[in-house]
Amino acid sequence: MARTKLVAGNWKMNGTAADLVEARAIAAGAGEGVEVALCLPATLIERAARALPGFAIGGQDVRAEKAGAFTGDISTQMLIDAGASLTIVGHSERRQGHDERNGVVRGKAEAAMIAGLKVILCVGEELAIRDAGRAIDWVTAQLDECLPSKPINAACFAVAYEPIWAIGTGKIPSMEEIAEMHAALRQRLIAAYGDDGNDVRILYGGSVKASNAAEIFAIADVDGALVGGASLTAADFLPIVAAARLAR
Ligand code: PEP
Repeated sequence: MARTKLVAGNWKMNGTAADLVEARAIAAGAGEGVEVALCLPATLIERAARALPGFAIGGQDVRAEKAGAFTGDISTQMLIDAGASLTIVGHSERRQGHDERNGVVRGKAEAAMIAGLKVILCVGEELAIRDAGRAIDWVTAQLDECLPSKPINAACFAVAYEPIWAIGTGKIPSMEEIAEMHAALRQRLIAAYGDDGNDVRILYGGSVKASNAAEIFAIADVDGALVGGASLTAADFLPIVAAARLAR
């Protein structure tokens, strides 16, 4: 099965109602042939979902438990109730800033998929691991520990390889390094899910911009991108979506 490219924006802790004009422009310009989504701050999800029917709006994190005394957290049902159709889990900013370990991330991914949300599961290494030549071993082991148990609906599950040192820095791995990592992640997905592992999309994330997107999307097993800074405006984001469409 050919994998449709997925380009998802992560607005992180950016954006108030005034910025929905950018979300509107992105939805209007997204076009056909590429799946496009915006993972917004929780405060904007409902307004964006109402304003942009049919366009995929996501959360940036979710809690595995259904309800309870978890101040500040958001459940799968809350995301769905607000109009979200997907969520990121395991972003490095959650892992680092909120001490989220692999087992917790796996629980989030499983709970979100059971609830009917699509999931983008993030993995990626720190610079010291890359410099020590351990990136492949480290990231594939991280993936193994975070993967939801079978069965999965491959169309509703994506992995994002996001080297931590590339996020928001303007630095990216070489194309060979991205290719090597994505091929290794594909093997792990096939080992875990059999043929379905071929249908899981593997996104690249970390300083993706209009200027480097085409080169990245041309790599085998790069099935799209998770985009932070360059997803905040339509002017920056839509050229990345266009590059994904051309790479189909
Ligand atoms: C991200 O936060 O997931 C990300 C990839 O950020 P940026 O594109 O800004 O590097």
